[in-house]
Amino acid sequence: MYNVEKLWLLQQHYSQLEEIEKILKAPSTLEKIKKLNLILRNTEKKLDDLRSKINSNQKILRRKDLALKDLEYRLKEIEKKLYEENITDIDQLSILDKERKKIKRDIENMEINLLETIELIENLKKEYENLQEEFKEYRIGYTKLVKEHKSLMNQYEKKAQGEKREIEKISSNIDDELLEKFNNLIKTRKIAVVEVLENRCSGCNMVLPSIILDKLKRNNQIVICENCQRILYLP
Ligand SMILES: [Zn+2]
Repeated sequence: MYNVEKLWLLQQHYSQLEEIEKILKAPSTLEKIKKLNLILRNTEKKLDDLRSKINSNQKILRRKDLALKDLEYRLKEIEKKLYEENITDIDQLSILDKERKKIKRDIENMEINLLETIELIENLKKEYENLQEEFKEYRIGYTKLVKEHKSLMNQYEKKAQGEKREIEKISSNIDDELLEKFNNLIKTRKIAVVEVLENRCSGCNMVLPSIILDKLKRNNQIVICENCQRILYLP
């Protein structure tokens, strides 16, 4: 194999390695993972909020229930006085009856109030269950995505190692001086060897003078583009 062909091949592996390293540095899956992770955290927070809302409403419900029992007890006591004790004082009877009516109204109101709280808790529980289902699905998606990401990164890691091995192998077959030239170009210009396409250097797009083209056609010596200093390769 001619030196220039070796260099061209070496360039292919360097370019592929660069592409792979770009992906490894900023993988598209990582962005998705970050987004989904944020959704998961937000959903978790909403679930916590709902849970504490349910708890506080359940406490309120217990308090209202106790208050209702207390009202019912007081009603019984008054009714006992009204119907079992032989009170004959009209005024006293009228006061007791008024109180009885008031407590009955209070009980009715408290019952409505209690039902409203029960309904509120039911709705909150439904909301919580739905959100929990959503959360489960998000988590399944997240786990899948992380797995995919890891295996993808593994594949690219392996590919990068393969490219590095090829680079080493080819490099060891190129004489030192030429290799140094190539490596310097890689460092300064990123691409060291470029194709000649339609008489132009594909590194800088300059039309190449005939003398350069002749040199390239005649033998496979190393020819440099005078404009961008890259090594030219005629396919
Ligand atoms: Zn050039």
